[in-house]
Amino acid sequence: MATGTRAAALGGFTAVHAMANTDPVADTAGVVEQVHRLGRDAGHCDVFPVGAVTVGLRGERLAELGAMADSAARVRVFSDDGHCVSDPLLMRRALEYVKAFDGVIAQHAQDPRLTEGAQMNEGELSGRLGLAGWPAVAEEAIIARDCLLTAHVGSRLHVCHVSTAGSVEIVRDAKRKGWNVTAEACPHHLLLTDDLAATYDPVYKVNPPLRSTADVEALRQGLADGTIDVVATDHAPHPHEDKDYEWAAAAFGMLGLETALSIVQHTMVDTGLLDWAGVAERMSAAPARIGRLTDHGRPIEVGAPRQRGALRPVGHAGRRPRHVGQPEPQHPVRRPQAPRPGGRDLPARASDGPRRCPDLIR
Ligand SMILES: [Zn+2]
Repeated sequence: MATGTRAAALGGFTAVHAMANTDPVADTAGVVEQVHRLGRDAGHCDVFPVGAVTVGLRGERLAELGAMADSAARVRVFSDDGHCVSDPLLMRRALEYVKAFDGVIAQHAQDPRLTEGAQMNEGELSGRLGLAGWPAVAEEAIIARDCLLTAHVGSRLHVCHVSTAGSVEIVRDAKRKGWNVTAEACPHHLLLTDDLAATYDPVYKVNPPLRSTADVEALRQGLADGTIDVVATDHAPHPHEDKDYEWAAAAFGMLGLETALSIVQHTMVDTGLLDWAGVAERMSAAPARIGRLTDHGRPIEVGAPRQRGALRPVGHAGRRPRHVGQPEPQHPVRRPQAPRPGGRDLPARASDGPRRCPDLIR
């Protein structure tokens, strides 16, 4: 909690949703209240716990959704993130249940059968590298199913870390039909492509996997036109003993909190796809709205709680946008000034040099 919230504050975030796949799993009122309290005690930013959809993330029976909603943590977002709620009946029940308190189910869309042993995006390169492929349809099939279920029961769905062009199209179609569906994309999926797997560097091993250039372009367009509502980091720090392995044995996951805003500037603002008001909408207002948070994601107002970060964008005059997925070793990712919730100062950083793209984090 201490290091995670500190990373968030250093990235300019004044609040974060903490996923439920912790130890212990946040699947009871007691645990989510503890997460909420530990976040407050750490003091770097507000922490809003996400409750698990199923007990122990096991996908067998629903967790205490109502008790978590009624708890002091007032949970409104529920997710088995890290796992997919693949059972359609459980997903239907969860969507129905959260309607009572205006909650939302945030789905990690990954068909487990279609991704057994999967290591990287399925394509010509996965065949050449001999790594088991992770087909786009494994994500898209779950998203399509869940959009239909959401429309059927009249509930609210949020799709975590959309990574394929087909997923963007499904969400776009659901919104066109007026269904209550929101979606997010991650900075690394806006920046990097699957050809980086050829390095066998496990830093590029993420879930869902890095995809093709066409997918990256579709994600950027989806974020620009509002099909994708939110940029979320899917921040997944792992100890060296889990990540520093050969590709097949290394853990999935990448850091994101400290570099997210700079990557969004690099991929969306500097390319002319999004203005800064659009960035504020997708990284502040929309996440707060989806999580039903009233003290975040609003313009500064007299008498309102102070939640501010400050960004000093570095101009890219004369820079040519680099090709998606090609590392640029000398490109420092600018870190926003840390926010100071409640006026508290952040502890000094051990190393305060420029932050670098996740493709360079070791
Ligand atoms: Zn996930």
